[in-house]
Amino acid sequence: MENNLVAHYDVLQNEKYGRYLVANKDLESGELIFTDTPFAFGPKPDSPPLCLGCYNPVEKALCSRCGWPVCGAECETSAAHAGECEVFSKAKVRFQPVEDWTASAPQLDCITPLRLLLAKEKDPERWQRELEPMETHTEARRERPTWSVDQVNIADFLVDHCKLGSKFDRELVQRVCGILEVNAVEIPSRGGFSIRAVYPKLAIAAHSCVPNIVHSIFQDDYMVKVRSAVTINSGSPLHLSYTHALSPTLVRRQHLLESKFFSCACARCADPTELGTHLSTLKCTKCDNGVILSTDPLDNEAVWKCTEKNCEFRTSGAAVSKMLGVVQAEVDQLDMLEPGPQAIEQREATIKKYKSVFHPRHSLQLSMKQALAQLYGRVEGYSIDELPDLMLERKAEFCRLLLSTLDVITPGDTRLRGMMLYELHAPVMFMARNEFSAGLITPEKLKERLQEPIQLLTDAARILMREDPQSPEGITGQIAQQSMEQLKASLECF
Ligand SMILES: [Zn+2]
Ligand SMILES: [Zn+2]
Ligand SMILES: [Zn+2]
Ligand SMILES: [Zn+2]
Repeated sequence: MENNLVAHYDVLQNEKYGRYLVANKDLESGELIFTDTPFAFGPKPDSPPLCLGCYNPVEKALCSRCGWPVCGAECETSAAHAGECEVFSKAKVRFQPVEDWTASAPQLDCITPLRLLLAKEKDPERWQRELEPMETHTEARRERPTWSVDQVNIADFLVDHCKLGSKFDRELVQRVCGILEVNAVEIPSRGGFSIRAVYPKLAIAAHSCVPNIVHSIFQDDYMVKVRSAVTINSGSPLHLSYTHALSPTLVRRQHLLESKFFSCACARCADPTELGTHLSTLKCTKCDNGVILSTDPLDNEAVWKCTEKNCEFRTSGAAVSKMLGVVQAEVDQLDMLEPGPQAIEQREATIKKYKSVFHPRHSLQLSMKQALAQLYGRVEGYSIDELPDLMLERKAEFCRLLLSTLDVITPGDTRLRGMMLYELHAPVMFMARNEFSAGLITPEKLKERLQEPIQLLTDAARILMREDPQSPEGITGQIAQQSMEQLKASLECF
């Protein structure tokens, strides 16, 4: 059993990060560093109407007491909904009917701030100790248009309409909005829909685009377990990534600036090739072998140039940014497709279409290849036992491509690595079996070849069984463990 009271970290402070965490002992990869419980959790901004008990989308289902969205009797009386239910019932403020129940409902934006305020009232000591020192970037937030939107939709709403003015003032409400904006992390709810939560200890970890810690959410009580992804020496800072690991530098830095109020200047951001992963690299269409890289990735306006000596091609950072946006929208459309033959074929066509524009390892190409690595072998017409060797090889190639990128940008034991190791075992195993069935290899050779999938499944199980057993990753971890045992047993009978 892992001790829930472990705390292998110290909190330090400096100019660069503010407060940050360092390891206070040498950590092995995968070691539990600490656990944390959310101070508050609830809907993300811009969510469509969702149940305030379980966060599944709802349509026209309202709480009989307060008149806000809940899916049924069980969620109506859930602990999560109790606080706002009482506030709304007392003040008689009901959820205003909406026409489109799938569109974002700004009315819900007040829920999580209200829960944070109610949690403060309930546990003033924890607020004082863990929330009071939190960064809120109030001055920067005040300059943004969202400030006045929050003022009306959240501060005025809670203070005036919900009659909470005697307990909370507008300044505190805005601070709470700032705490959420700067410190909350996105987590999956039990139903799989994404919500947000504030974990006071986790929030102290500094950001890096090459993180060395990972966090797993346990859905019964939304506890988080924080582990080392790699070996970490005592005294080293613990770095979490606050943005999407596979995004290109332009997109990551923009996201961090907008959501977390800082310009990342980590080693990955500063390197035009993103540490050799080429997640940002474009192909030159004006010459044969050149690639196009930013002349200064820490400046979004910097010129992008071809690397070939004799090629004069140049473009602006703004033009690259715009192009990324256009193709990203296309990739987003593909992500909306139901998993089926179309989802495979349209992605293959899109990869081909942009072959001459993007490096084969570019973020956008890679995200389509990641989806394909998971689709080949799983959809109608492409089930694993009917895939020709050529497609088995393609699935394996995409898995290996992704894994080699992860080695650099998120080294060590991460969920995505675990999932990709699991995906990779299948084509490797089937290719070996096909060769054996065709009489191309001896039983001894087959046995030897099956050691690789056994190792892949072993590693996948080790990583993924650290996740919530009910999450998709946790379930895959258990399947990996069983498949590994079966495969080993089948070899004994040889
Ligand atoms: Zn519900
Ligand atoms: Zn209610
Ligand atoms: Zn960075
Ligand atoms: Zn060129």
